Amino acid sequence: MPASFIIKDVRTLDPTTGVDELRDIFVAEGRIEATPPSDAQVISGHGKLLIPGLIDLHVHLREPGGEESETLETGSRAAARGGFTTIVAMPNTRPAHDTAETVGFVLRRGTEIGRTRILPSGAITIDRKGKELTNLAALAGAGAVAFSDDGTTVQDDALMRRAMDVARDLNRPIMDHAQDNLIEREGGVMHEGEVSKGLGLPGIPTFAEERIIRRDIELAEATGCALHIQHVTSRNGTELIRAARARGISVTGELTPHHLTLCDEDLDPKNASFKMNPPLRSRDDRDALEAALLDGTLSCFATDHAPHSADKKARGFLKAPFGIVGLETAVGLTWTHLVRSNKMTAMDWLRRWTTEPAKIIGRPHPTLTPGAIADLTLLDVASPWVVHPNEFATKSHNTPFAGRTLYGRAVATWLNGRLVWRENGF
Ligand SMILES: [Zn+2]
Repeated sequence: MPASFIIKDVRTLDPTTGVDELRDIFVAEGRIEATPPSDAQVISGHGKLLIPGLIDLHVHLREPGGEESETLETGSRAAARGGFTTIVAMPNTRPAHDTAETVGFVLRRGTEIGRTRILPSGAITIDRKGKELTNLAALAGAGAVAFSDDGTTVQDDALMRRAMDVARDLNRPIMDHAQDNLIEREGGVMHEGEVSKGLGLPGIPTFAEERIIRRDIELAEATGCALHIQHVTSRNGTELIRAARARGISVTGELTPHHLTLCDEDLDPKNASFKMNPPLRSRDDRDALEAALLDGTLSCFATDHAPHSADKKARGFLKAPFGIVGLETAVGLTWTHLVRSNKMTAMDWLRRWTTEPAKIIGRPHPTLTPGAIADLTLLDVASPWVVHPNEFATKSHNTPFAGRTLYGRAVATWLNGRLVWRENGF
């Protein structure tokens, strides 16, 4: 039976009710209670911030097929340590999430591990090759909460239109990694601009993203399917999304902590942990992303947690695979950059990690009101910490943020009222 506990004297933020208050929180049988349960463990929350567990719509867990970089077990630990109680697993595993069997495996294994709620996505096309639709209804039936070919993009307009028609009927969003293949095929490794020219590295231009965002918006308008653009990186991309939302089209976009806090000028070409796809863009793009986050055009954060083993990332900037880990630095980066610097309120920050992503995948609104599931994260936002990748729970250490001093980290995380992460000394 799950334990009963009381978190005393804690500042609580409820993103659904908008209430920010100092109070005690009661938990029994995995749910928030209105009154203190008997025989409850008492935990002091003094000086801390208690929030509903965070949701990350974009996580690569690598299992099945890439267990040298991450497993469902290590990825779950990293999520819990990062303060996440719900994560959406991307489909680019081997095999891909293109059958009910693989989707069911990820869902089942996540529940068995029980450290975070793993919600699988389903692949749009078989083996993510962009040629033939998967059985989207079967994937949804097996637990897929969204459809994506993330890592690649369905290039065929007619095929994408059919996917959106089916996804709409299944009441699932299409999440797209928006990148035009004609451009990708040129072998770019970073943003195409002055910095790539100076370094002599092949670039990926922003219009590779813009072309697909424009196409996807047209298809979403035509089909009525809910569209979610993953890891938006360009000023023009944000403008397309802003205009489409103003016209009432169902389109949302996510922003990663690294595209928010870094630009191509920060890139160290000797360190492949600065290599990700889409790449770190120009300073102007970065500024536009921040503005789009603040005005709600980009309604949520997502990490694009993409672990790669050290030997793969040691191949050098040209040959190393794309991607960086993100689950354990996400709170610190976004809190420090936005809330600590007074650009955003704590409540708005929290909504972008909870209620907004929940809406996109049709999950219950995260809240601290009695009766709610006790998915909880206790944050320390007052004391600084330094990013030491060797302390990560994820199996991989590929981060460009090593050595950074940040504010905001989970000191404890509960899933269904069960403690799944506790910092040493707490
Ligand atoms: Zn992607």
